[in-house]
Amino acid sequence: MTRNPAVRRLADWSPGDLRDLAAEYGTPLYVQDLDRVRENYERVAAAFPDARIHYAVKANAGRAVLRALREAGAGAECASAGEVYRALDAGFEPSEIHYTAVNPPARDLDYVLDAAPDATFVVGARDTVDRLAERGFAGRLAVRVHPGVGAGHSEAVATGADAKFGVPHDEAAAVIGDAVDRGFDVVGVHAHVGSGMLTDDDVAAHREVVERLAAVARNAPADLEFVDAGGGFGVPYRPDEEPLDLGSVADATRTALADVDADLVLEPGRYFVADAGVLLTEVNTVKPTDGATLAGVDAGMTTLLRPALYGAHHEVRSLAPDAADRDTDAVDVVGPICESTDVLAEDRRLPAPERGDLLAVGNAGAYGVEMSFQYNSRQRPAVVALDGGEDSLARERDGFDSLTAPER
Ligand SMILES: *Cc1c(COP(=O)(O)O)cnc(C)c1O
Repeated sequence: MTRNPAVRRLADWSPGDLRDLAAEYGTPLYVQDLDRVRENYERVAAAFPDARIHYAVKANAGRAVLRALREAGAGAECASAGEVYRALDAGFEPSEIHYTAVNPPARDLDYVLDAAPDATFVVGARDTVDRLAERGFAGRLAVRVHPGVGAGHSEAVATGADAKFGVPHDEAAAVIGDAVDRGFDVVGVHAHVGSGMLTDDDVAAHREVVERLAAVARNAPADLEFVDAGGGFGVPYRPDEEPLDLGSVADATRTALADVDADLVLEPGRYFVADAGVLLTEVNTVKPTDGATLAGVDAGMTTLLRPALYGAHHEVRSLAPDAADRDTDAVDVVGPICESTDVLAEDRRLPAPERGDLLAVGNAGAYGVEMSFQYNSRQRPAVVALDGGEDSLARERDGFDSLTAPER
């Protein structure tokens, strides 16, 4: 039996191995460990032996990650036509794909209907049902419900109470009934209320959501194949946070579903990939100030947006070979982008930084490279995949030519 801890902390990565990778592939560099991705999948599969598990592609849509999770047994939850394109490219069958259509552009609907007509369309508005009917689609449909309960780790990602996502729970039966009358194969109900379930309170909120969903399923005028409780399984971004207790989530989910006679579907994203990834970045500027020492690095908000977007916390560790011998200092880690929000980490106790040091940013595997962008004409970073102890380039660093290539 292989050891499969509930969490991999930044301190668990080998500094020497990470230094070697940075030397070989350059920085900024995302390192994604596919073996750890598989471990994360296995723990969820073990806690929910009867569930169908889909991977929420938007957390990290790299081909190597998608293939690893497909081979492990996951289906794919896609939030856009582009993600469906990537899932198909990685070998998922259309029937293994759920396409969650949030205000879908016409181009997206047309593409998915053409490329993956056997996918399950998860719709969050009557309007989307109309648009599918107009296109002659009468295939697999699931209705996304916003349950009016639940919580997320910040306002910006707490989607449960937000009318943008899903139909109100008390209107779901009517929407399902209409869709059945119009010939759709209504196979499921769905709720995803945001990200970051970690504490007992969060698990209690999850239970409320699934209870609402179960009530919708019981009253649904259709023979449902599944109840999809969404993703949102959290990971500890801070060293003093405990990992999510999957057993208690499984218990809460089972209790909430009670007598509902349908398969459970889960669609975590972050949980599979977050602690399987680190971002490596090099210090290029050290600037003492009246407050913290500024460590200017070659990764910024365009490389890892979460701190600037949500105020997200990521651990930072110095990989300098002599880090343990240095005095510590209060350090702000700042990027090269001309925006005052371009701060990766604020006021951290770190070994006094020196130019040329390598820093590792933890839990960077989810919503990291996926949110990278080219503002300030920055080039998106490279990604290296670790698989069975071997490293290989999974994604090339953008060249300057990628900046001008789309221009006419
Ligand atoms: C983002 C998203 C997920 C995954 O969320 P995580 O917090 O990464 O687990 C699952 N389902 C839907 C519909 C989503 O939008």
